[in-house]
Amino acid sequence: MITIADRLKLAYARIAQATKKHSRPEQSVALLAVSKTKPQNLIVEAYQAGQRAFGESYVQEAVEKIKALAEYDIQWHFIGPLQSNKSALVAEHFDWVQSVERTKIVTRLANQRPEGLAPLNVLIQVNISEESAKSGCPLEQVDELAQHISQYPNLRLRGLMAIPEKTPDKAILDAQFARLNACFINLKSQYPELDTLSMGMSSDVEAAIGQGSTMVRIGTDIFGPREQPKEK
Ligand SMILES: *Cc1c(COP(=O)(O)O)cnc(C)c1O
Repeated sequence: MITIADRLKLAYARIAQATKKHSRPEQSVALLAVSKTKPQNLIVEAYQAGQRAFGESYVQEAVEKIKALAEYDIQWHFIGPLQSNKSALVAEHFDWVQSVERTKIVTRLANQRPEGLAPLNVLIQVNISEESAKSGCPLEQVDELAQHISQYPNLRLRGLMAIPEKTPDKAILDAQFARLNACFINLKSQYPELDTLSMGMSSDVEAAIGQGSTMVRIGTDIFGPREQPKEK
């Protein structure tokens, strides 16, 4: 039977292959293992295979896992839609938030990050698809949001994240990823310390790496199809 360790190995091989194909430096693309809806024992299995960064989308479920796995040296990334009433839990328990899309949430995260913890690493989620219903900050508002984030010493702006439109059309995917990369390069000219461009999931790792991704977020290919989430 294929194990989580095998699947992780395959995911890393896929990343290495795409990195090479696009003449990107080795090790320039990190892997976030997306464990939302998956039980703790599978996270431990991936951890024992060497994986350290995990992504979660549902706050309550995630906090339970984070508390239960406190003895492990795991870097936790929040990647789901973030409502105001759950921002405190995220500020208290996570190392990264990849889904920041408005100033109100930024202010809350900064005020709620407990003293004594390292700065919370923040990515701005950008809406790169033409679908208005998609979450993410509009491209035109990225600068303003970045400015807001960078005034707080306990938040550390690291870069951008996006989820493209669901489409089998490679040209559309490429165009959307390229749009995010252009935005990232532009933002980096103002904030040279930025180092993270989070794009690419199980279905579009190659396209994302081709357009400059430095972090792919893979769930299904590592942990298998997801269960229904218990919370929204
Ligand atoms: C669930 C999720 C993923 C993982 O998607 P897969 O298709 O299972 O690899 C990546 N990014 C975000 C923001 C997600 O919510």
